[in-house]
Amino acid sequence: MTRESAETKGRRYLIEGRLVVEFIDAERIVASCRGSGAIYQCGYARGGWYCDCPVKGRCSHLHALQSVTVSPPQRRMGLGPAWAGQHWRPLPVSASAPEAVSK
Ligand SMILES: [Zn+2]
Repeated sequence: MTRESAETKGRRYLIEGRLVVEFIDAERIVASCRGSGAIYQCGYARGGWYCDCPVKGRCSHLHALQSVTVSPPQRRMGLGPAWAGQHWRPLPVSASAPEAVSK
């Protein structure tokens, strides 16, 4: 029996809908992930990733979470208003608000 790597397992958790992102803002991510037999709380807070499962280091739950989120310093660049001058400009269409311009 081959052992599934944390990365493969994390991807499977995403496919199976086991990861739930419960809260997210510029500084914090709160999520839960249903692993083998238990639901683990994982996320990002105070500058670091965490997970309450017994695995040390980057576990499958964090692999899953990090596939759909990035840590705030990178994420903030895409947020718009606060960074508008540096990274982001609204399209020069006077009639539409930036929120109306969807990708
Ligand atoms: Zn974990």
